[in-house]
Amino acid sequence: MTSPGQPAKQGPRSLDPHVRRYAARTAGMTASEIRALFAVASRPEVVSLAGGMPHLAALPLDGLAREVGEMMATDGLVALQYGSAHGLPELREQICDVMALEGINAHPDDVVVTVGSQMGLDMVTRIFVDPGDVVLAEGPSYVGALGSFAAYQAQVVHVAMDAHGLVPEALREALAAVERSGRRVKFLYTIPNFHNPAGVTLAVNRRAEVLEICRQAGVLVVEDNPYGLLGFDGQTYPALRSTDPDNVVYLGSFSKTFAPGLRVGWVLAPHAVREKLVLAAESATLCPPTLNQMIVSRYLSTHDWKGQIKIYREAYRERRDAAISALEQHMPEGCSWNRPDGGFYVWLTVPEGIDTKAMLPRAVTQRVAYASGTGFYADRLGSRQLRISYCYPTPERIREGIRRLANVLEDEAQL
Ligand code: PMP
Repeated sequence: MTSPGQPAKQGPRSLDPHVRRYAARTAGMTASEIRALFAVASRPEVVSLAGGMPHLAALPLDGLAREVGEMMATDGLVALQYGSAHGLPELREQICDVMALEGINAHPDDVVVTVGSQMGLDMVTRIFVDPGDVVLAEGPSYVGALGSFAAYQAQVVHVAMDAHGLVPEALREALAAVERSGRRVKFLYTIPNFHNPAGVTLAVNRRAEVLEICRQAGVLVVEDNPYGLLGFDGQTYPALRSTDPDNVVYLGSFSKTFAPGLRVGWVLAPHAVREKLVLAAESATLCPPTLNQMIVSRYLSTHDWKGQIKIYREAYRERRDAAISALEQHMPEGCSWNRPDGGFYVWLTVPEGIDTKAMLPRAVTQRVAYASGTGFYADRLGSRQLRISYCYPTPERIREGIRRLANVLEDEAQL
């Protein structure tokens, strides 16, 4: 016990001399389990099924290098200058053409260019959420979104999914339960297509119902759709935003269809919300990077970008097939998983008694890494689940990684 006037004992957390200065909201900022893993998982002997890094080797780098060089020679002074917080007008028009593929009819004025869709998530949370407000999100949900919600002190209430995505009845129940508890739901955050991490897609016949439930409850929908154009059979689904433009904020990104290092994404807001978003963007970054926006804009106007998406889709389908056949061949009894129709991820449930987070260091010793399930829940569920990302390793490495993972699970079952 410390008596008055005596300095508090130095515990490991108080080694930081600034600890008393931090804002209360930093309490929700904890290192993501997945990010912490990246360093280990990137050792060459480890097959990493952990990170969601796109297969950039499929890009025509020489052609891109030439074009970026030409662009700098002709428009370098614009490319290196400040721009508007709203984003380049030409790019905003092109973004509307991209969204048209999923049935969205948008005006370029309602598009705000962001530094990746992660910034869109941050901005949307910043403008809508007060500490203690509830955000509904599928369980499991995207780890980066959970990070933004925690940073703004939102309380996340998870809504169940099944093989056809978010379950409308579970959404009704979650809304009723939050209402009974006297709290306020600010929005539903949903990843309708090729979900990260669950790999499932919201059935078309559920979409109108989900929108109607939210509309009735006065709850905004935040639709996060980075993978929508990566369906393996080329099929796209109608965006939620396409049927309810006044109640859906749509987040888009070029990270998976082009390249994440450019950090170019966007928010398509209901018209009334657009101005607040531009102000939020301005205070965060002044403007998104002009050079990168020009690279994306030029890429969209001079490249066969739809053809490039097809190349990506085919590479990811081959990898998905490798992952699924290896799972069928090697996984011990008691494991179950889904077969994604697009995107990057398989969600695996392991036999009872195995804790995927505790198992991870042993898996890394066996030279395979994955993302354990608890990182995808705000309430620490998910200890019997893990996410396999098949986007980055070659099909051979995926097969080898899954074989190693199956061995780890078998050893674990014997412990
Ligand atoms: N949302 C989801 C569902 C994602 O999977 C990701 C990236 N893994 C993002 C948003 C963030 O993407 P960006 O690179 O555009 O910030």
